[in-house]
Amino acid sequence: MASSIVLFGPPGAGKGTQAGNIVSITGKPQVSTGDMLRAAVSAGTELGVEAKGYMDSGQLVPDEVIIGLIEERLTQSDAVNGVLFDGFPRTVAQAEALSHIAEVSIVIAIEVPDARIVERICGRYTCGGCGAVYHDTFNPTTNPGVCDHCGHTDMKRRADDNEGTVRNRLEAYHAQTSPLAAWYRKRDLFSAVNGDQGIDLVGEEIAALL
Ligand SMILES: [Zn+2]
Repeated sequence: MASSIVLFGPPGAGKGTQAGNIVSITGKPQVSTGDMLRAAVSAGTELGVEAKGYMDSGQLVPDEVIIGLIEERLTQSDAVNGVLFDGFPRTVAQAEALSHIAEVSIVIAIEVPDARIVERICGRYTCGGCGAVYHDTFNPTTNPGVCDHCGHTDMKRRADDNEGTVRNRLEAYHAQTSPLAAWYRKRDLFSAVNGDQGIDLVGEEIAALL
């Protein structure tokens, strides 16, 4: 039976890594609406042309078009056993529409306390010489301000990795996700995993649900 998975996780929760694990465990392809839209537009399919019209005029692509694209995607041979939805649904209306075209067997949410996310994202810095990534608390350079790999002393921090921006992104994430979590919980499809532990342990918790 073609049963699909929905994965939620706030920015900085390691969702990309865990999505990769789910794909390798289940063999279900990862379907992101952004990638799907870009593919349909560049392939010039009927829905792609329609979607492009909205995007070119700066409008959001309506749910009917997105749902149409997903329906098309689900007919492809690699999707016969279902897919892993990434970044979809974003609203209860989308979840409802999705329930008519795909069987979602489980919704997995990676949960990490906001304070931990802020700590993880805000402490990051990158070497301007070789691109090595460090973290104030979890992975600092051996000598402060000097890259372990290339000896460069030019460390860069991303402007959007500051606390205010991260907290805004988290607020948006919670506002979007909590009605969806409630909707799926009501249907007994919702499972939360503890994302505030090592990547391998998060992966094990998720694997136990699959
Ligand atoms: Zn370096």
